[in-house]
Amino acid sequence: MYHYEHLYIDGQWLAPVRQGCFNSFDPCDESLLAKVAAASAEDVELAVAAARRAFDQGDWPRLSGHERASVLRRIAEGIRARQDELAILEVRDNGKPLAEAQGDIADAAGCFDYYAGLAEAADAAPRQSLEVPDPRFSCWVEREPVGVVGAIIPWNFPLLMAAWKVAPALAAGCTLVLKPSELTPLSALELARIAHQAGLPAGVLNVLSGLGSEAGAALAEHSGIDKLAFTGSVPTGRRIMQAASREIKNFSLELGGKSPLIVFADSDLDAAVEWIMFGIFWNQGQVCSATSRVLVERALYPALLERLVEQTRKIRIGQGLEEGVQLGPLVSRGQLDKVLTAIASGQQEGARLLHGGQRPAHLEQGHYLTPAIFADVPVASALWREEIFGPVVCLRAFDREEEALRLANDSVYGLAAAVMSQDLTRAERVARGLRAGIVWINCSQPTFNEAPWGGYKQSGIGRELGQWGFDSYREVKQITRYDSAKPWGWYQQ
Ligand code: NAD
Repeated sequence: MYHYEHLYIDGQWLAPVRQGCFNSFDPCDESLLAKVAAASAEDVELAVAAARRAFDQGDWPRLSGHERASVLRRIAEGIRARQDELAILEVRDNGKPLAEAQGDIADAAGCFDYYAGLAEAADAAPRQSLEVPDPRFSCWVEREPVGVVGAIIPWNFPLLMAAWKVAPALAAGCTLVLKPSELTPLSALELARIAHQAGLPAGVLNVLSGLGSEAGAALAEHSGIDKLAFTGSVPTGRRIMQAASREIKNFSLELGGKSPLIVFADSDLDAAVEWIMFGIFWNQGQVCSATSRVLVERALYPALLERLVEQTRKIRIGQGLEEGVQLGPLVSRGQLDKVLTAIASGQQEGARLLHGGQRPAHLEQGHYLTPAIFADVPVASALWREEIFGPVVCLRAFDREEEALRLANDSVYGLAAAVMSQDLTRAERVARGLRAGIVWINCSQPTFNEAPWGGYKQSGIGRELGQWGFDSYREVKQITRYDSAKPWGWYQQ
């Protein structure tokens, strides 16, 4: 069993003020995995005060981009130096297969390197001159760190979601208080250790494990925070927005999705089936951008359903550390129950369950589920409309392109979407018609640090990653200078 009974505040490992711990369980056998420090409002107070001091009086926001970049690169190296251990920790905490966890750890390190590069590039362009129509004035824009960031993240990609916020915020010169999910807090606490060893000054990054209702809520409501950066569900996103509204805090929201994948009949059948599977079964379907609604052109529909079931049967389910496992347990008992409830209600709503959706017979313990394939899912059903966040795919046939687009866009969400066709003109036309922040053509899910990430509609506000993610941690300051030797003369007429 692991012991993570301290919080990382102001460069030190401190026991929670109220000395509380919570239990974290291994999703593959439900055994006790770790005792974890539970931050309360008092700890949030200490952490925000430390981040505030580091921002208002410390060196970090005033360093050059190059100086900050060297620390970020050392954090990336620190992650890589411990990649095997971190990947195993992530499997044990979250349940995901080892190969996926290894990918997450590599991506997290890559994210720190990428933002180191942007911090350096920012040094080369400290101001952006603006053409203004009055020659008596010079006008330009400078960027400054937004301040103290309260970052709250979910459990599906624990270290990677931390990196997506911590790396750009640090690169921009912000200081942070990071609260990982109570279901998967371990790798974020290790990130604190790595950042400390990389020479990040005290108070610049503070990591508080704790419950959402207590530590998360106290962080969201704290007046010492300048920006709330949140990734998680829509209901919690609403609370974050409300908390931010009280003091008009800057905020960004990365929320849920029910992303469509449109497959035209000219697609290669095997490729379509593989991307459908990757789009919904990767990470046990616990992916915000999972393409969980699949629209298939009628001519291909029967053959595609048959091949999808055939290939899905072959998925190897088991403990994430076992060689060759492709689908691990869901993250928690609560998540499994939620997904099982959605499957049961989907059957009552008239969808046809072609495969899966049960606890696998050979795995008595752990939060395992066989991947579920539903066909002919009614568009009015909760199964079609609501985010399930599990390995459950819903399929329907369509006849015309406009119909596919209308059905795809008929959602309160707009995070991601995908289209498959060998006719690239059509695929690009459909991509433009999809109301989503991310559109994949002839694939589903590949993600790059360079490309913006975020959604339309109830999938969120703002963008992470790329230059957009960097700029979301930087204020825009206009500076206008009067250059003329002549007096302004307004009151001398
Ligand atoms: P969640 O909203 O339950 O929790 C997210 C975080 O918020 C956790 O750290 C939790 O402790 C904290 N929290 C809970 N209540 C809080 C409160 N009252 N005040 C402040 N913080 C609070 O979400 P989850 O179950 O951890 O994650 C799943 C959701 O995240 C899904 O909806 C998924 O689509 C979404 N997600 C979105 C993205 C994206 O990039 N758009 C990425 C990953 C996950």
